[in-house]
Amino acid sequence: MTPSVMEVQRCARCIYDATIPRISFDAEGVCNYCRQHDQLEAAYPTGVEGRRRLEAMVDDIKRAGRGKRYDVVIGVSGGCDSSYMLHLAKKAFGLRVLAAHFDNTYNSRVAVENIQRMLEALDIDLYTHVVDNAEYQRVFRSFLLASVPETDTPADIALATVHYLAAAKHRIRYIWEGHSFRTEGISPPGWFYMDARYIQRIHKRYGDGKIETLPVLWLHRWLKWMAIDHIKKVRPLYLLDYNKEETKRFLANTYGWQWYGGHHMENRTAYFVNNYYLPRKFGIDLRYSELSALVRSGQLTRDEALDRIAQPKPFDEGILDEIKRRVGFSDADWDAIMSAPPSHYTLHPTYKRTFEQLRPVFLLLYKSGYVTRSFYEKFCVLKDDPKATEDFFASLQLRRDRTSSGVTQTALPDPATRVQIAKP
Ligand SMILES: [Zn+2]
Repeated sequence: MTPSVMEVQRCARCIYDATIPRISFDAEGVCNYCRQHDQLEAAYPTGVEGRRRLEAMVDDIKRAGRGKRYDVVIGVSGGCDSSYMLHLAKKAFGLRVLAAHFDNTYNSRVAVENIQRMLEALDIDLYTHVVDNAEYQRVFRSFLLASVPETDTPADIALATVHYLAAAKHRIRYIWEGHSFRTEGISPPGWFYMDARYIQRIHKRYGDGKIETLPVLWLHRWLKWMAIDHIKKVRPLYLLDYNKEETKRFLANTYGWQWYGGHHMENRTAYFVNNYYLPRKFGIDLRYSELSALVRSGQLTRDEALDRIAQPKPFDEGILDEIKRRVGFSDADWDAIMSAPPSHYTLHPTYKRTFEQLRPVFLLLYKSGYVTRSFYEKFCVLKDDPKATEDFFASLQLRRDRTSSGVTQTALPDPATRVQIAKP
């Protein structure tokens, strides 16, 4: 018998439960992700010590920027984190910033206005990369046909690549990343995977046309940018008492920045994937990650988080219509996509084995500050064994059982089955 909604264990501290891949609970009933959070808290202190480290980081950045036009690249999306980093870099630390933006042609109007407002007010230059509209849609379509959850990762990889392209072009040695484990959380390994080979192979198998204008982080280029150009990605928000609600109010009052109503809603494909595709097809609700992070960092109580997660995710059906139209799916095609059995990255060619083999190289890159500890641990240390695939499907099954209130489901169909849809 499969466990019902009542039987799924939930962490005593955050709101993660047994449906999260690779979760375990200790004797106090606290999950391994909460313990990871505590390790990060210890490794990245805030307050006086955080400030001291942040100032030391800024000194290094200024030193590396001497004789150049810019000190640091900051990726901008119009969202709260990246907008705040622009303010922090320029106003608080006097850094010479080059903003970088990847436009997947699905930006929301509010996001574009936010970017313009911030850059104008702070007098910051922008490096922007617009992908060929039709090419982006073909890649997006391939990921939907492949039935994997990483539908929005081509945009994530492109964004990461654009940061490096902007830095390499102007010989900038530092990139600021807006991630904060205190507000965004730690995405459990197994939910999503991304690398350049994965994108290329998925597109080759399920799509058509070449990848030409979509920036992709090929391993040889990435290694060159780190080892030869010495470009480092750093996360300043780790060292700050970063409170999301306060920051939003501050940005609105100071810059006329607008809140667009939810994390990832600055972009319509991100909104579609997070509010419709992931929850309805894979039972993945990213709010678990964000709300758990806010509980762990004391910005929300556990009861408030449980209350919020119980609210249904809002979704504007007009966006589904836009996606179907632009990607070239009929209503019947779409039904086939949604009912096709889910697949997993471990069933497709990726760089994962190469990352595992290059573990000593990446350890060195991590120790020298070029890659994050979470990258090193997730991509190089954690083995891509059959257990990873089993875990993904087991947690998927648990989430499905939960949404149907404990009614036993039939076994999942063979994940290798392909969706049969005519080309547009
Ligand atoms: Zn927990």
